[in-house]
Amino acid sequence: MALLNCDFHIHSCLSPCGDDDMTPNNIVNMSLLNGLDVIALTDHNTCGNCRSTMAVGAENGLIVLPGMELTTAEEIHVTVIFPTIEKAEAFDGYVSSKRMPIKNRADIYGNQYFMDSMDNVVGEEPDLLILATEIGLYDVAGLAEEYGGVATLAHIDRHSNGVLGVLGNIDEDMGFSRAEITPNAPEDRYKERFSFLSFVKSSDAHDLLTIAEAHKCSVIKTKDRSAASVFEYLKNGK
Ligand SMILES: [Zn+2]
Ligand SMILES: [Zn+2]
Repeated sequence: MALLNCDFHIHSCLSPCGDDDMTPNNIVNMSLLNGLDVIALTDHNTCGNCRSTMAVGAENGLIVLPGMELTTAEEIHVTVIFPTIEKAEAFDGYVSSKRMPIKNRADIYGNQYFMDSMDNVVGEEPDLLILATEIGLYDVAGLAEEYGGVATLAHIDRHSNGVLGVLGNIDEDMGFSRAEITPNAPEDRYKERFSFLSFVKSSDAHDLLTIAEAHKCSVIKTKDRSAASVFEYLKNGK
């Protein structure tokens, strides 16, 4: 049995709104300093820095799950997390065909750096990553499952890009079994209102100082300390 401190929503320097110092090594080291056991890397509409960040995590004893924060056609944010990089990259390939091909203006929106596991910039994403995709909210949960991942409604307590801020409600037909709230949200109130959902608390960090401290995020119980067991919790755990 393992008790694991998790932050399932972190952006790297590949997200235009992510700080340039959200590099693979900085993210992993700050997470370890904060006492975390597990993070998920969830850049906007891309898994492009997951492979390098997972490699740094593996070297330093931090479990890094690959993921992305998908923007639906309705401008609602959903995190999709995978048990393996192969599954994440297959999903990434699909999503990239559903993004709007509008060029990033780094001077306005920020840089979108791909990095290797030594924190070298190895490329830049030319298209702006934060825009809505063609994927509708009601299709996300099934699509994630098809690719072997699990979808979570992101920051539902936040007005902008949260499902409640955009649509005003969550119904079971959307197909989600889990939602995310930010660290200071009143979890009991959301649990009462949406009894069919399980919850995680995540930081949605775009800079190093916002990465969750161990006691402020989700603490989960798994059968052992492994990426597979953490993923199993996200899929079926309460
Ligand atoms: Zn978001
Ligand atoms: Zn986010």
